[in-house]
Amino acid sequence: MNIALIAHDSKKELMVQFCIAYCGILSRHNLCATGTTGKLVSEATGLHIQRYLSGSQGGDQQICARISCNEIDVLIFFRDPLNAKPYEPNEMNLLRLCDVHNIPLATNIATAEAMIHALERGDLDWREIVRG
Ligand code: PGA
Repeated sequence: MNIALIAHDSKKELMVQFCIAYCGILSRHNLCATGTTGKLVSEATGLHIQRYLSGSQGGDQQICARISCNEIDVLIFFRDPLNAKPYEPNEMNLLRLCDVHNIPLATNIATAEAMIHALERGDLDWREIVRG
C-alpha cells in the first residue's frame, strides 16, 4: 500500500511517536511524506520515505497530484485544528480529493490508530484492487 504522511508543526512529534509505535507495520508499505515530516520520521525510525517538498513549498500539492492519479491508498494528515495556515485552502483541496477518490484519511491519532489496525488486518486491501 502507498501511505502518505503529513503533519503540521505542532503535530510532528505526535507523528514521530505514531510511526515509532507502528514502525513494524509501516515498514511493509511504501511511504511518502511532505519534506520535514518525512525527514523527522525517517530519522527517528529508519523507515525509507519518499520525501516531497515542505507543505509551505507545495509538498501537499505534490501529494494531491498522486492522489488524483490514484497512487495513494491511505493518507495520515495530522492537522493543527487551532491555528490556520496561509496555504490552508490547498490543504482543504487535499481533503476534498481524498473524498473524491475514496481514499481512507486520518486527521487525528484516534482515527490513525484504527486505520493502521485495519491496514494490518487487510481491511484496506480493496484499495489495491481499485488501484489495479
Ligand atoms: P512539512 O510540511 O512536513 O514539510 O513541514 C507539512 C506542513 O505543511 O506543515
